[in-house]
Amino acid sequence: MNPFAYSRTDDAAAAVKQVAGNAKAAFIAGGTSLIDLMKLRVESPALLVDVNLVPLNKIEATADGLRIGALVSNTDLAYHDGVRKHFPVLSEALLSGASPQLRNMASVGGNLMQRTRCYYFRDGISPCNKREPGSGCAALEGFNRIHAVLGVSDQCIATHPSDMAVALVALDAVVKVRGPKGERSIKATDFHLLPGEHPERETALEHGELITAVELTQSPLAARSHYLKVRDRASYEFALASAAVALEITDGVIRAARLALGGVATKPWRALEAEKALVGQKPTEAAFIAAAKAALKDAKPRKYNKFKIELAQRTIVRALTVVGGMA
Ligand code: SF4
Repeated sequence: MNPFAYSRTDDAAAAVKQVAGNAKAAFIAGGTSLIDLMKLRVESPALLVDVNLVPLNKIEATADGLRIGALVSNTDLAYHDGVRKHFPVLSEALLSGASPQLRNMASVGGNLMQRTRCYYFRDGISPCNKREPGSGCAALEGFNRIHAVLGVSDQCIATHPSDMAVALVALDAVVKVRGPKGERSIKATDFHLLPGEHPERETALEHGELITAVELTQSPLAARSHYLKVRDRASYEFALASAAVALEITDGVIRAARLALGGVATKPWRALEAEKALVGQKPTEAAFIAAAKAALKDAKPRKYNKFKIELAQRTIVRALTVVGGMA
């Protein structure tokens, strides 16, 4: 690990000022992702600004939903009564990720900021445009079984690792941030960026912007939601394919639908065409299969990850069957 300076503050404005004023500074909260990457020398910030004492650790009811502080732990969020009742997809996504110990430490803000598990990115030596722009991408012709089939570019095909972020995209969540120029809101669907020509740029955040909260809006759609994750082993593993789904059904007809995918795309993936295909249909297996096909229509597999297309389609159908059959 490279040497670094450390400071701590309980004031959001002071934390933002410190990080914004130093191009090599970074915020740290739970540290479950950043410290790993520092040990691997993939990230080497010169200054860590610890924000754990900033009062951002509450889940509060708002007029139409919940405001979740960025420092709320993944465990507290997953087991919160309001989340379990009104946003089950979020609770299920959180509980499918990492291990209990990691969920106790990991924060909501940190979960949104976690970086890819592409092994070429993390090994510190392979060509990797994300770690070292312009160096190439070892995954394109390498062992790309865990890589993305949606949202890929010829610069990077790494999957986004978060389960929570997939649920937030399906729930139309809003991310609140505070930076040197003040506060702003970013839709969860716009928070993560496609790799395009610049895979090193992963989020819409500017340097020095601190995530302060995530806001959710309650709805019948959000209450009838589910997260299904398929992986190589039953726990402490990243998704090969996952689906966050929500349906609003009245009089036996789907009135609204949300579908987001994890494990198969370079960012938490909102499947808008599939959602459109579901609206107006009866919740039947045929309708779910048609939506699953629409969701993967533009998939671009590489040598070792073709299996993800059918796996993702089956995952979508199974997840929709659960919410489609709810009373
Ligand atoms: Fe790097 Fe992306 Fe290629 Fe992985 S897929 S080696 S993260 S550029």
